[in-house]
Amino acid sequence: MNVKENVQQILEHFHIEQFQHDLIDWFRTEQRDLPWRKNKDPYKIWVSEVMLQQTRVDTVIPYFYQFIEKFPTLDALADAKEEEVLKAWEGLGYYSRVRNLHAAVKEVKEKYGGRVPASKEQFSSLKGVGPYTTGAVLSIAYGIPEPAVDGNVMRVLSRIFYITDDIARASTRKKFEQIVSCIISHDDPSDFNQALMELGALVCTPKNPSCFLCPVQRHCRAFAEGVEAELPVKTKGKAPKHVAFRAIVLTNEEGKIRIEKRPSSGLLANLWQFPNDEHAPTPNEQAFIKEISERYHVVLRSIQRIGTFEHVFSHIVWHIEAYKGNALELQIDDETNKWVTVDELNQYAFPVIYQKIWQAYE
Ligand code: SF4
Repeated sequence: MNVKENVQQILEHFHIEQFQHDLIDWFRTEQRDLPWRKNKDPYKIWVSEVMLQQTRVDTVIPYFYQFIEKFPTLDALADAKEEEVLKAWEGLGYYSRVRNLHAAVKEVKEKYGGRVPASKEQFSSLKGVGPYTTGAVLSIAYGIPEPAVDGNVMRVLSRIFYITDDIARASTRKKFEQIVSCIISHDDPSDFNQALMELGALVCTPKNPSCFLCPVQRHCRAFAEGVEAELPVKTKGKAPKHVAFRAIVLTNEEGKIRIEKRPSSGLLANLWQFPNDEHAPTPNEQAFIKEISERYHVVLRSIQRIGTFEHVFSHIVWHIEAYKGNALELQIDDETNKWVTVDELNQYAFPVIYQKIWQAYE
């Protein structure tokens, strides 16, 4: 059986119109008051959808307000310097999201006169724009009936249709996209997609779904079979790699702090950090002092420990042993290595773990 036939079979005896009605009615009365729902500005909806990838709504709200205040229009973001954009994103993590967004809005400004394209082909060809973002922005901003399927929506639909396919597989996502293409409301694709997302966030939660409060309970096959807690099926990815290294808040005789820019590609690209031995961890403090002294051409006699800091990325966990130390400065500044004052430090975007080291140092 091919996917199309499989989807047809899944949708047999499913009351699509009644489902749309139950879901959308519930959404219209119960939806949360979120700042990106105030109007249908495609630029703002796009920003919110990028921020919401891998990040909780509560965390996103203050960032969204600040980001939109700083870059109120697509043109304002397109014209901004990368350093400013990274600074506005500082702390949200997954920085490739905002670098891609920045590149994409520049393209929109150049190619489409600053108007977010309503064409699926044009919008989905922009940097960092995948099928989920395409569906979310086109349906919410322009009312185009495109599926917007993320992990949240797959969980809800796995339960409603009692689908046991592994949601970690790309083919399963495609299957769900086909299902949504068949059941999406053509009268109101915006509310339909948002309602599915809202249901996953408020009612059909990963653990202990509130089935007795659920507006689509009568359509839900997993609830009817009492198996909602077993769904969705998801295989675990590889265990993250643990990496331990040292870093130092290095000050000179004027009280300035040494910072350096990370490479322009890879993890946390173009953010700033304190000197460290991430790429060749040293075995002990003495070796670390030697390494830092040689690399930065400074005279560093002793260091004091600040503490141990941990940060979990999707595929890697950092454990940083952080120190502070005074150095006699020999190396001069260049574009990627600088001595800065404490006030100037605020102009540079740092990964969260280095912000924590700085707070502990202070
Ligand atoms: Fe989810 Fe329960 Fe509603 Fe089914 S009935 S969609 S499992 S909350």
